[in-house]
Amino acid sequence: MLRDGSLVLTATAIAPSLLMERQAFADNSANAVRIGLVTDLHYADKPPAGSRHYRETLDKLEAASQQFASDQPDFLVELGDLIDAADSVEVEQRYLKTINTNFAAICDERHYVLGNHCVDTLTKQEFLAGVEKEHSYYSFDREGIHFIVLDSCFRSDGKSYGRRNFHWTDANVSAEELEWLRGDLKSSSKPTVVFAHQRLDVSNHHGVKNNAEVRKAFEESGNVLAVFQGHSHQNDLKEIGGIHYCTLAAMVEGSGLQSNGYCVMDIQPDGTIKIAGFARQASYQWDV
Ligand SMILES: [Zn+2]
Repeated sequence: MLRDGSLVLTATAIAPSLLMERQAFADNSANAVRIGLVTDLHYADKPPAGSRHYRETLDKLEAASQQFASDQPDFLVELGDLIDAADSVEVEQRYLKTINTNFAAICDERHYVLGNHCVDTLTKQEFLAGVEKEHSYYSFDREGIHFIVLDSCFRSDGKSYGRRNFHWTDANVSAEELEWLRGDLKSSSKPTVVFAHQRLDVSNHHGVKNNAEVRKAFEESGNVLAVFQGHSHQNDLKEIGGIHYCTLAAMVEGSGLQSNGYCVMDIQPDGTIKIAGFARQASYQWDV
């Protein structure tokens, strides 16, 4: 009885403050935002290695593009590892050109998160030039929602990945980027969604080394609803500090269209998030 009683008390004590916070998000003038999401395409014109079927990514992306054509997302986000490694800069540039030509044909507005494989042989500047972007981390607003793209391709000493100068387990958000992130979060009161490649919710090899500091910035802002990430190739979902950390299935994994993975996400002005997953990608709905 006592235990039940204290549980009820806890629930009633927390609910009103959460409700007030979330109500502040509702913006009557805003529409839902629709986003097409893909991750870990690892496109390369080379034979399969283990469970990674590099060439099949072209057919899988074509299947995703048919779904996106009917769902009409406002923009696309690619969560990193768009390409896989080649022996030379020229060949890797060619992989990038091939996959990005197909990706760019799907939707005018596109956002690219840097993955470790994007900057294996290429430098960050070369990759960004290839996808017509200037910055590796930045933020933008759509329909009352704040979006942040993060870059965790920095070594512990702060140096950017590129030209095989790093070990993939040494992933970090640089001190400069962390300072920018804190300021960016402070300057916005909108519900916020973050896109990352390496994981911000685990402390194993797939985790960003200083991810506790990044999560602290998210939690202190009180506005971050969800973080979407790739890198470990399997569906996963964790909730830390009231924030959903959702890891998406990799497009490169497995042979055949039944192994594909991509999703369409709707974010309502009140912060409700609905994710329709296709093939191996899981579906989710998170109410406010
Ligand atoms: Zn990957």
